[in-house]
Amino acid sequence: GHEITVGDLARQLSVKAGELIKKLMAEGVMATINQNVDFETATLIASEYKYEVKSNLVSLDDILSSKKDAYESADQQERPPIVTIMGHVDHGKTSILDALRKAKVAAGEAGGITQHIGAYSVEKDGRKVAFLDTPGHEAFSAMRSRGAQVTDIVILVVAADDGVMPQTVEAISHAKDAGVPIIVAVNKIDKPNINLDRVYTELTEHGIQSEEWGGDTQFVKVSALQGTGLDDLIEAVLLQSEILELTAATDVPGTGAVVEAHLDKGRGPVATVMIREGTLRVGDHVVAGTKVGRVRAMTNHLGKRLKSAGPSTPVEIVGLSEVPMAGDTIDVVEGERQAREVAAWREEQAAAMASGKSSAASLEELLSKV
Ligand code: GDP
Ligand code: MG
Repeated sequence: GHEITVGDLARQLSVKAGELIKKLMAEGVMATINQNVDFETATLIASEYKYEVKSNLVSLDDILSSKKDAYESADQQERPPIVTIMGHVDHGKTSILDALRKAKVAAGEAGGITQHIGAYSVEKDGRKVAFLDTPGHEAFSAMRSRGAQVTDIVILVVAADDGVMPQTVEAISHAKDAGVPIIVAVNKIDKPNINLDRVYTELTEHGIQSEEWGGDTQFVKVSALQGTGLDDLIEAVLLQSEILELTAATDVPGTGAVVEAHLDKGRGPVATVMIREGTLRVGDHVVAGTKVGRVRAMTNHLGKRLKSAGPSTPVEIVGLSEVPMAGDTIDVVEGERQAREVAAWREEQAAAMASGKSSAASLEELLSKV
């Protein structure tokens, strides 16, 4: 099992080493300040000081807080917004995304239903927007529940001929819970006999009021089918993005979120990652949730090989030893050893959570509570 030196234990318990050595002797354990005691013994001793000893595995918080310092002192640059398209089934989410990046995703999908999450990037006048293609709102909430809020802006697609439907309402509440601003894309305006006033009224009833009507939400009328209004939609996203003043440090180790992951027969575990902050490079040691690895190859959404990628860039990476989960955070770490330590620490946290025990992160954290 894990061990801790008498000196470290004393420091973490805020007692004098001499006093601790005496206590250990009373328990029949002879040890000097530089010798290790096992965690069973450490726990026993610590319980006398009313602390529960967790292993001295490096805490993720420690690593992330040191990274955070690096982030904060690093130069902040403007970064592209990350957009999730939500809305009721068949209102045109896939069609809009497809039209935006002028690729043929909808046609290739089984039954026209989005089968997996992808992430893509589009560019207008040299400014980028990153999109997550989620099947409804499930992925959005699943990712959030795993601590990965990746989305900066939600485009809520509402079909002009159908209006507000149950999943529209759910999407609104998910976006509101997450504190993410909404842009409404009123889609299918090419259809005959549509009543836009009705759509606007229904949305107002759910707290989403158009700027045209004195509210603070941008509404954009589009037709994914005819390709109209799409420029306006991107403009609206870029405008919202300016209001949000989205920035990130580039010149620090990368951190991001796993958007989708699967096992590929030839390449092994493959993960789509949205980089949130810093730069991810080929060769970087990473930990994704509890899975470790080293980035062997990285490609963008067009399949182009990249050597490095910065904030708000969606990339596909290979090199993880196992398949991580969507919503896992992925972090660049110093090396394989640190990757394993973080992974082990997370596993331990998860086990502690599952067994209902305190998930106190570290002795330091326990101590700060006493
Ligand atoms: P999703 O379930 O929200 O992803 O919706 P899809 O993108 O799969 O679209 C559902 C259906 O609506 C498909 O048959 C599309 O061809 C159709 N559709 C999407 N956008 C438009 C549009 O702007 N106008 C018209 N008339 N049909 C559209
Ligand atoms: Mg779809």
